[in-house]
Amino acid sequence: MDCIFCKIADGSIPSKKVYEDDKMLAFYDIEPAAPVHVVMIPKTHIASADELNEENSAIVAHIYSKVPEIASKLGLKGGYRVVNNCGADGGQTVFHIHFHLLGGKTLGKMC
Ligand code: 5GP
Ligand code: ZN
Repeated sequence: MDCIFCKIADGSIPSKKVYEDDKMLAFYDIEPAAPVHVVMIPKTHIASADELNEENSAIVAHIYSKVPEIASKLGLKGGYRVVNNCGADGGQTVFHIHFHLLGGKTLGKMC
């Protein structure tokens, strides 16, 4: 499968890693939208939030369970935003589910 984030997960495309375990990876976004912008992905391919179900969604809880640790490592003491874009209308451009962790300044309102 030609998926950029699967290639980042298996190391065939390099990334600047912030956190990694057997199930997920967090790395700096190549085109940051905030002073701190990290992308958190599962290592298994799920195309988008619209593909989630009872069988595959435990990874979402796992990723969220690591958010405080990753945010702390990034020094995001004042808060941050976690964003998932889903589908074309949601602004998704890479079809491997991911969660943006944004911070490093007071962020504006959504949309
Ligand atoms: P989306 O628009 O799908 O919600 O987010 C995809 C994100 O992946 C974008 O913010 C984009 O900058 C980032 N991105 C795309 N390709 C690469 C890459 O090869 N390396 C890294 N580090 N980020 C990428
Ligand atoms: Zn993938």
